[in-house]
Amino acid sequence: MNILDDSTYVKTLQEATALWGLKFQREMVIEECAELILSLRHLERGRIDLGAVLVEAADVLITVSQLVNDNGAAEFMTDAIDEKMERLARRVASNDSELK
Ligand SMILES: [Mg+2]
Repeated sequence: MNILDDSTYVKTLQEATALWGLKFQREMVIEECAELILSLRHLERGRIDLGAVLVEAADVLITVSQLVNDNGAAEFMTDAIDEKMERLARRVASNDSELK
């Protein structure tokens, strides 16, 4: 799933940035990441279910996508994701389960 592949979503992200500004959007990334972290802690303690965590994960994806879209950094991000996924695939293929 890539939010930036949907032109309707991209338009909404651009409008949101125009409305609130990039500085505020960066602050939202911080807040949404914190909410995701907290939800994962609450999941481990049985206070919430996985659905609540996924809602917070969606918030993170949306806010990060907004930053990537606004900065025109989608290509850079795509390259970073490709590199990291290739590394992950190599580790999985070599059965490298050591935690690093
Ligand atoms: Mg949230």
